[in-house]
Amino acid sequence: MKRPHFLWIAVTLFIAACTTNAITGRKQLSLFPESTLQAEAVNQYRSFLSQNRVVSPGNSKDAEMVRRVGNRIATAITTFYRSKGLASELEGYDWQFNLVQDDQVNAWCMPGGKVVVYTGLLPVTQNEAALAIVMGHEILHAAAQHGNERMSQVAVAQGLEVAGNIFTANNQKANTIFDSVFAPGAQVGVLLPNSRMQEYEADRYGMIFAAMAGYNPNEAIPFWQRMASAGGGKPPEFLSSHPADENRIANLKKYLPEAMKYYKPNQK
Ligand SMILES: [Zn+2]
Repeated sequence: MKRPHFLWIAVTLFIAACTTNAITGRKQLSLFPESTLQAEAVNQYRSFLSQNRVVSPGNSKDAEMVRRVGNRIATAITTFYRSKGLASELEGYDWQFNLVQDDQVNAWCMPGGKVVVYTGLLPVTQNEAALAIVMGHEILHAAAQHGNERMSQVAVAQGLEVAGNIFTANNQKANTIFDSVFAPGAQVGVLLPNSRMQEYEADRYGMIFAAMAGYNPNEAIPFWQRMASAGGGKPPEFLSSHPADENRIANLKKYLPEAMKYYKPNQK
């Protein structure tokens, strides 16, 4: 009767590794401690910033805007979690928002709240509220621990030991999986595409947190329409993992009334 016993252990481990997402209520596979991901993100973020041209908020209204939008969304999301008694969900978060001089139409957020916006994105966002839509989307991916879920799916697909050495820090296999999911310098083709479900979650709740931060969620639709037609023959990097198709726009329209309930414009 050995086999059923082992199977039972495997099933138990699998269930133990499934956490209920505090924002979406969806059950997610999280095989990695979030603290490990955050520590790795700090390393990657530092090294990325040292190798790229960071625009100083002291000299640039755009960099100042990126920081302002980020801080407002971070405040909104932190306040929301606290009000639900879920402050521990953001444990270890140390938010940073940097604008990087680069023509790429792109932005990302790593675990622990490490955000980069590329200057190439700003001609597409065009206004602060649309920037808040993108940053809200990226921040939601991090806060909802979508990276952990994707890494866990890769680990399972590769047949890695669930209860074994994958949990330890500095594990080479874990680092390789982290890089395949997050590495900001990686070729776009190497990055795993975000799942549809994660994308819709990031759209829906990102829009809500942007609204809570005082940004009009109505900007989401024209922004995504601009994104769809940006770049001419060479589509933006952001589109490779974020298809701006009719399904996305239809979903945004569906979720818009919900986000509007949370919208209070910022006082000038
Ligand atoms: Zn996304």
